[in-house]
Amino acid sequence: MDTFEQMMKDVKGTSPAQLSKDMEKYKTLCICVKCPTYTTCARNAKELVFCLVGKSFMCISEQKTCICPTCALTRECGLKHTSFCMTGAEKAQRYEHALWGTKIP
Ligand code: SF4
Ligand code: SF4
Repeated sequence: MDTFEQMMKDVKGTSPAQLSKDMEKYKTLCICVKCPTYTTCARNAKELVFCLVGKSFMCISEQKTCICPTCALTRECGLKHTSFCMTGAEKAQRYEHALWGTKIP
C-alpha cells in the first residue's frame, strides 16, 4: 500500500471536524495560485487543492503548465498524477479513469 492509499484508508476513520481541519491545512500548502494555469475565476471562487477535491468548476479550461510536482502535498500525500484542476483528483485519475481503459468482454 503506498502513501496515498494509506491516506485514503485513514480518511475513512476520520471525523468530519478533523477532515475540515486537515483541508484548511492543505489549502495553506496548495501553491496553485502561483501556477500560470490558475485563473482569476478560480481565485474568486477560492478553488484550491484540486488534487483532493477534483476538477475546477468551469474556471480553468486551458492548461499552461502544472507546478503540482513542486507542492508539499505531492510528497505528503504520495501523489502520482498532476493537472488535477483539469483532469480530476488523484483518486479519480488513479481509479475512476482507469475504467475507460477496461475492456468489457
Ligand atoms: S498538489 Fe497541486 S492541486 Fe494539490 S495542493 Fe498542491 S498545488 Fe494544489
Ligand atoms: S492543479 Fe496543477 S495545473 Fe492546475 S492550477 Fe494547480 S498547479 Fe496549476
